[in-house]
Amino acid sequence: MVRPHALNLDRRMHENPDYLPWDLVEKINDWGLYTMWIPKIFRGQGYNMPSMCYFVEEIASVRLAIANLIGVHYLGVRTLTSTWNMRLINHICREIQLGEKNHTPCLVSLAITEPGAGTDVEETDLLDKGNITCHAEKVPGGYKLNGTKIFISNGHLSTWHMVIAYSDLEKPADKIVVLAVKTGTPGFAFGRKERKMGQKACPASELIFKDCFVADEFVCLDPEQVAEQVAASRRSPREIYMQMIDYVVSATRAGVGAFATGAARGAFETALEFVSQTVVAGKPLINHEWAQCMLAEMYKNVAMSRLTYVETNYANGLYGSFRDLQKKPMYYYYRLMPLKWLDKFAPSLLNKPVMTRLARKTQMDGQTDDEIHRFHRRAGGVSRHRRLCGIQTCGGRAFQHAPA
Ligand SMILES: Cc1cc2nc3c(=O)[nH]c(=O)nc-3n(C[C@H](O)[C@H](O)[C@H](O)COP(=O)(O)OP(=O)(O)OC[C@H]3O[C@@H](n4cnc5c(N)ncnc54)[C@H](O)[C@@H]3O)c2cc1C
Repeated sequence: MVRPHALNLDRRMHENPDYLPWDLVEKINDWGLYTMWIPKIFRGQGYNMPSMCYFVEEIASVRLAIANLIGVHYLGVRTLTSTWNMRLINHICREIQLGEKNHTPCLVSLAITEPGAGTDVEETDLLDKGNITCHAEKVPGGYKLNGTKIFISNGHLSTWHMVIAYSDLEKPADKIVVLAVKTGTPGFAFGRKERKMGQKACPASELIFKDCFVADEFVCLDPEQVAEQVAASRRSPREIYMQMIDYVVSATRAGVGAFATGAARGAFETALEFVSQTVVAGKPLINHEWAQCMLAEMYKNVAMSRLTYVETNYANGLYGSFRDLQKKPMYYYYRLMPLKWLDKFAPSLLNKPVMTRLARKTQMDGQTDDEIHRFHRRAGGVSRHRRLCGIQTCGGRAFQHAPA
């Protein structure tokens, strides 16, 4: 299914680097892949999150860019869900479902990286040392957003952007503002599209905000809401923000691990095919012991890599955002409850502020320090995993090589 699109896409991207793969995005939308891993209560198809990893590994083994076109949407969705703002989760997820029904894809992106801050924005301990410039100034009725975000995967293709900004640039770690910004909002424009070395079909976009007004109703999380959490959980604002970042990272790095596993598997399968068809010194290459050793090493890397993302998913099931969805009564409830009935009461219920308070109470206050600590350890595991698979990030460029 992927191969014919991949070849066609490569040719088009080669001829015109500014080409955006709308045809394929529309097909992916029609296949239902943008709602597949959204919980049923938000009008998604309710597949469990770990299953996405096997799916993207399969696609990535043929073409990483196409796996990204699907997987990165869930990076945006997970950022939204990690704020536990039930009203906005409900609002945006229902738009995604509507987009599927009307054949107009509604994708979500995450915009956190800035021209002067990459690694820094993923750790509250590093944030204050980073060169942070994306400013969200509180104004009557909302926030005024100024700044630039870079390397935003699927940026040009997305309808909603989860923008991480800061209301105080001197102390950003204590003043994070998560905003849902829709394409077309006055003051928001797309900048350049990176000339990437690979995965070209998935654009890495620049997002530019100039006095962009974002109304209060699209504020997912801000210092005011965090102050309520501080009172309830006795954690500091930066600990609460780190919890949110951990929820995003832990849920999505498993997917990134699956991309990397797919890439490594693709390399192994290509090598296997090559050695099966090539004759060296009078006998098939596959019968040479040194070639067999190299193949075994490659396969070992693939298997270990898969184990790591499976472990990460296991940790998410125990301590992370899938925890409640995977509890047996909850699982069977969503599985067996007809969507029509769920839809009768879910939207109005989810729009009530009490639901956000309840979600944050269970998911954020309810997470113990020990669980948070374990979560941190898992994030370390995934970055080790990225190295294992040969994916290195360096100055914003992902270099990928087949494992030796
Ligand atoms: C293909 C691609 C897609 C992306 N998609 C998105 C997206 O959808 N949304 C988004 O917001 N961002 C996205 N990014 C950005 C990505 O998250 C950043 O590239 C990443 O966080 C690293 O930041 P950086 O590139 O600024 O590297 P840097 O932070 O400059 O890091 C460069 C190197 O220095 C090391 N380093 C950094 N800080 C320290 C330190 N304190 N101590 C020791 N070593 C350190 C790093 O480990 C790394 O090896 C994407 C990037 C790529 C390449």
